[in-house]
Amino acid sequence: MAGRAAGVNGMTASTHAADVLIIGGGAGGLSCAITIASAETRKWFAGRRVIVVDDGTSDLKKARLFNAPGVEPGMLGTELLEGMERQLARYESATILRGTVQRAERLPGRRFIATLESGEEVVAEELVLATGYKRWDVEGLDHVPEPHPRIGKANRIHLPHDGCYRIEPDLHVAGLLAGGSSQFAIAAGIGAQVAVEVLSRWAGRATHVHDNA
Ligand SMILES: Cc1cc2nc3c(=O)[nH]c(=O)nc-3n(C[C@H](O)[C@H](O)[C@H](O)COP(=O)(O)OP(=O)(O)OC[C@H]3O[C@@H](n4cnc5c(N)ncnc54)[C@H](O)[C@@H]3O)c2cc1C
Repeated sequence: MAGRAAGVNGMTASTHAADVLIIGGGAGGLSCAITIASAETRKWFAGRRVIVVDDGTSDLKKARLFNAPGVEPGMLGTELLEGMERQLARYESATILRGTVQRAERLPGRRFIATLESGEEVVAEELVLATGYKRWDVEGLDHVPEPHPRIGKANRIHLPHDGCYRIEPDLHVAGLLAGGSSQFAIAAGIGAQVAVEVLSRWAGRATHVHDNA
């Protein structure tokens, strides 16, 4: 869903509307998006939309995986990533935008607005930060990354959260940026957990998604 609209700074830009915006489409972000979108046929999903913005630097692009559960040993991370993107593309409720988010901030009230370097904007009810543990170049949010708690390298980061990946209301962190160790299953698992937290709020009760073929 995109239209031409006046941007927050008065400039005209292509503006997309989403219920959930996920910044980062690597293991954590795509897992989060797939799990959210997999509930799109539930009545309480109510036509919601999820947008992923990604600029293509996932660590998976450097990996060959022999120990990721359910993944054929020796599979290239690029193949796994492409497979996850194809899986997400099967859902009508999901969109991937290629580009870099330069700024994200809260609008007066509740919603967030993210601005890409292209000038495109995404306005969203909820924001998930899944940019990996090496990069934090999104301006505008009042949260500063700290040293990563589980990696023995000084330049690895994480964003503190409440123990269930919530930084503040409607703002979540997923993948390694949430403090997970550098394994595909952990990054993807945190993404799925964030998705289930979001879906449970939409459903009005604790939920999960099974058997949505
Ligand atoms: C060489 C290597 C080998 C590995 N081998 C294995 C293995 O054998 N088994 C295993 O389980 N794991 C392995 N891993 C680890 C695995 O790749 C990571 O755990 C996983 O990719 C982390 O997921 P993530 O979503 O946190 O980050 P990533 O997958 O790195 O994704 C982060 C995404 O955010 C995007 N992004 C960041 N900032 C912005 C922005 N401002 N705007 C838009 N997009 C943005 C990036 O482009 C990227 O696509 C390996 C990693 C490496 C580097």
